[in-house]
Amino acid sequence: MNIRDDLLHLEKQARLLDPPAGKREEIRKKVIDYAEHFLNRIDNLPAFIDPPADRFPDSFPLSEEGVSVDVLLNLLRQQVDQIGLNPASGGHLGYIPGGGLYASALGDFLADVFNRYAGISFTGPGAVRLEHRLLRWMADLFGYPATALGNLTSGGSMANLMAVVCARDASGIKARDTDRAVVYLTEHAHHSIEKALRIVGLREAIVRRVPMDDRFRMDAQQLDRMIITDKTSRLYPLMVVGTAGTTDLGAIDPLQDIGQVCKKHNLWFHVDAAYGGFFILTDEGKEKLKGIESSHSLTVDPHKGLFLPYGTGALLVRQGEWLHKAFSGTARYLNDMGQSEVSPADLSPELTKPFRGLRLWLPLLLHGLRPFRACLQEKLLLARYLHAELPHAGFETICTPELSVVAFRMPHAEQASELNQQLANALRREGKVFVSTTQINNTIVLRAAILSFRTHLRTIDSLLQSLKRQVAQIRQGATAP
Ligand SMILES: *Cc1c(COP(=O)(O)O)cnc(C)c1O
Repeated sequence: MNIRDDLLHLEKQARLLDPPAGKREEIRKKVIDYAEHFLNRIDNLPAFIDPPADRFPDSFPLSEEGVSVDVLLNLLRQQVDQIGLNPASGGHLGYIPGGGLYASALGDFLADVFNRYAGISFTGPGAVRLEHRLLRWMADLFGYPATALGNLTSGGSMANLMAVVCARDASGIKARDTDRAVVYLTEHAHHSIEKALRIVGLREAIVRRVPMDDRFRMDAQQLDRMIITDKTSRLYPLMVVGTAGTTDLGAIDPLQDIGQVCKKHNLWFHVDAAYGGFFILTDEGKEKLKGIESSHSLTVDPHKGLFLPYGTGALLVRQGEWLHKAFSGTARYLNDMGQSEVSPADLSPELTKPFRGLRLWLPLLLHGLRPFRACLQEKLLLARYLHAELPHAGFETICTPELSVVAFRMPHAEQASELNQQLANALRREGKVFVSTTQINNTIVLRAAILSFRTHLRTIDSLLQSLKRQVAQIRQGATAP
């Protein structure tokens, strides 16, 4: 055999990776049917299913010849899509719910088929421009000036990490002084900030927990005092992290006041609005988020507040040059990329990245803004409704919800933590709704985080019913001899 024969033989095998129209249709139909079967039943599927211990036979039948799509979809059904938390369910009220807009899935499909290179504007000018427009829309939404730049990230943690890098660079603090650098945040700031500090070489920085008021919001006066004390002690204040919608309780730190303190001390102000940011699309949220425009950087999470499937966060930086300085890079092999428009690769640690914009662009423009605003306003109202109904069901609430997280507990002098954990476990076993817990003042409380686009009035009514049923059972158990 000569080399041409070898090549033709290899090509024949390699072409199996590039199925023709008929074969594509066959696979596509089965995959779409599988997805439709799920979506048509989504309102009645459990929010949580305990994985049975024996459910894990080999899920990896890798072979030289390949396996039929039926076998693979069956494996997915049994071993992935039917166990644990069901984040696509409206009954998901744990942690901070994500979304899963159908139009985003179709956007991903198109992005993956075309596989446009969205990292560099020379190669993917349309894709890059589309992402810049989305980020510009967000910057306008939050009142950032024309100097702002942003980046679509994999999520909020990555955006927070990049913000810490910008703040570190802008502070001018030298590596040898990191043990004198001070970062200010509250007990309820997201743990990704401290993780970020460790990752970016600020492990030794001093982290000050600014006290909170009775609604779990940062006390800006105390912040001011702490900064003054630290400055007189020859420490280097580096940044303040305010949270716009804490993960625990949905509290919003007083952004205007913190902004003023930061301005006075010339200090980087980062706002972590991963959960709460997009409530700015409602009139009420806009009012509550006043002051967010005074920040230097801002994390938001479209895979939370805009109901996208997991995999899209965003960082906005008011003075975009800090983002560019922190992450721009050059390489000999990229010389011909020209200087058309700033490239995402120069605003992020990533070079090659998925074309994330399409999964946001498609639903946003297809549906228009109105349903997004309505869905967010509905979530705020549902939280208020739940908060008002809980006392009638015999529960104590922790505080008035500022956004859409409602924390509550069974009042019980002794064993409060134990009982509330028991209740959370019982709800999970029942599976209709999934709520998670947190600790407030050292006791375990339940929290319902209402952010799924599929959570509606009937979901909350169902939660209230489940709660009453489970509490009755727990109380019965507790009084049994
Ligand atoms: C969810 C969340 C994060 C982390 O975002 P990921 O997208 O999960 O990485 C950060 N901060 C807050 C306030 C959050 O709610």
